Amino acid sequence: MTQPVMRQDPLTGHWVIFSTSRGDRPIRLSKPVAAPSVDPADDPFAPGNEHETPGESYAIRRDGSQPNHPGWDLRIVPNRYPAVSTLESDGLAQEPAAYGYHEVIIETPRGESMFSRLSIMEIADVFVSVQQRMIAMKSDSRLRSLAYFKNEGAAAGASLPHVHSQLMGLEFVPPFLQAEFDATHRYWEAEGSSKGRNWFESLLDAELSNQNDSRIVDRSVDLVSLCPYASRYAYETWFVPTRRNASYLNATIEEIEELARQVHGVLNSLMSIVPHVPYNLALHTAPLGLEKVPHYHWHLELYPRVNGLAGLECGFGCHLNTVMPEQAASALRVGSAVRTVNRVDSTNTR
Ligand SMILES: [Zn+2]
Repeated sequence: MTQPVMRQDPLTGHWVIFSTSRGDRPIRLSKPVAAPSVDPADDPFAPGNEHETPGESYAIRRDGSQPNHPGWDLRIVPNRYPAVSTLESDGLAQEPAAYGYHEVIIETPRGESMFSRLSIMEIADVFVSVQQRMIAMKSDSRLRSLAYFKNEGAAAGASLPHVHSQLMGLEFVPPFLQAEFDATHRYWEAEGSSKGRNWFESLLDAELSNQNDSRIVDRSVDLVSLCPYASRYAYETWFVPTRRNASYLNATIEEIEELARQVHGVLNSLMSIVPHVPYNLALHTAPLGLEKVPHYHWHLELYPRVNGLAGLECGFGCHLNTVMPEQAASALRVGSAVRTVNRVDSTNTR
């Protein structure tokens, strides 16, 4: 047995126990072995079933087709079962109404259940559309933050198999985002501003110069993907832009396309290591009105659900991880390299 070790996240202060031998435990409860199939007759996100969703707030229609009709490449619609809404309280309720927007991004017209099977160009369409809707939502001055996320697989919270993700506009700043924002601000005040490097720039400096136990998965001029030092989840990966910019609303098209390329690569690599593993993606971007602060970088986080959340995580806030991030990054890099070679043969990835 390898001795378990503990690591503390330098940003949030949370502790993670790394117990790699727990990854060898015999698992007798069933795990998904195949991607869920999408039944076109029972798919509210299929072309032809547009009437089954609320009217679209955004769409990519390269053929010039009419809103809420077939012909689209991507649609964004209000969530039929929203967690927050713009309906005002009837004045009788004791609690304030949970105000905000909750939209669903239907990422392809095809009956596909895995985001990793979309082409890089389709993934870039998703990330560009999210930015467009975020810019539109910003005009509602009641909103304080924007939360974009994806749940893939039932164990990660998905209720429909057809690939989709979600965007929320909220009247408050969610606690994880606030904690990151506060911690990076403290770092900036204490040492970042005098060094001219904010927390994320210092992180990239340190990670890119760490040659021996590298946690870097992929990198380009614009974006670096890495497995964080105190990863809470096995194969957890962060996608961090190199340019100082707190808000995804101000990300460039080059950065968004590079994000799509690296997310596509990492997800395909992950699926070759743990086939059909459920996962979440979460985009962290500065609260609204604070887009220009120097201490923060927008970034995307990937949490694979290899082990699920159990009593220690839910009851005590202490994560158990069975894969060291150095080992995770190495495995994810191998998958990416194999695919890069394959991609040379296929000129059209769409
Ligand atoms: Zn974050």
